[in-house]
Amino acid sequence: SIPLGYFGGIGLASRNGILVKGANFLDVITKIDTLVSDKTGTLTKGVFKVQQVETAIEKTDFIRIAASLESYSTHPVAKAVVESAGIIELAKPTDVEEIAGHGLKGNVEGKAVLAGNTKLLDRYSISYPAELGSVVETIVVVAVDNDYAGYFLIADQVKEDAAAAVAELKTLGISTVMLSGDKEAVVAKVAGELGIAKSYGGLLPEDKVRIVQELKNKGNYIAFAGDGVNDAPVIALADVGIAMGALGSDATIETADIVIQNDQPSRIASAVRIGKITKSVVY
Ligand code: ADP
Ligand code: MG
Repeated sequence: SIPLGYFGGIGLASRNGILVKGANFLDVITKIDTLVSDKTGTLTKGVFKVQQVETAIEKTDFIRIAASLESYSTHPVAKAVVESAGIIELAKPTDVEEIAGHGLKGNVEGKAVLAGNTKLLDRYSISYPAELGSVVETIVVVAVDNDYAGYFLIADQVKEDAAAAVAELKTLGISTVMLSGDKEAVVAKVAGELGIAKSYGGLLPEDKVRIVQELKNKGNYIAFAGDGVNDAPVIALADVGIAMGALGSDATIETADIVIQNDQPSRIASAVRIGKITKSVVY
């Protein structure tokens, strides 16, 4: 049975915008030693903007074709590409396939189109300028009828309180590990900005599950925080699953034990503090 004091803890959390789905999670969260966090949308704003467009074909054609395909997806990078098209009229893509961790494949105006990261083009053996490999920003590379057609350089920003959240968790004895499907160079840069010692990029959803499982096997007590539909399996696997509620997908919010309603990562540290306060009241 759960001591009554925990209900007070849930109320306190709720007044701080932290939805706790069961009193036991306030206890469990005091035991965690590692926060594993998704990058995009969790530690960064997840609102990408196109900064630059480099094309090998006519620029308006390039933007129209790429944005038409991306209009199929709700991925944050896809939204940026669609937004960059502005008033350019888009076509309805057909035969679209979303390839997890890579991007999209489909048909636009009778052309076979790919839009995603360089891994996507590698997969279809389409060559692209070598310098794309050293761009330390997120890019969406596009191929049209099996030829490289250009890329969008897009940028996200770290959340205002993300570095403070990482530092505060550290004082609470919790180290942060960042996981992302985004490219390694971008992930390492963001980790540096946030003071995160351990980060992994280029991951597929199943890689995230494997890393959390390995940390658990080593005896770590894990909280996982994420926002995307792909994050639901890891949220379920973690000792405490945390979802970002404002931008998060329904599946992650459903699966999570704790929902951060305003998406501020610093509220994860608040949840730990509330757990500790509650425990000290209960015992
Ligand atoms: P994450 O949420 O950690 O970025 P995802 O698996 O959603 O992980 O995406 C991994 C990478 O795959 C993205 O960073 C992006 O490079 C690429 N990607 C995924 N979906 C798309 C898309 N619709 N268009 C372009 N690139 C995409
Ligand atoms: Mg994500």
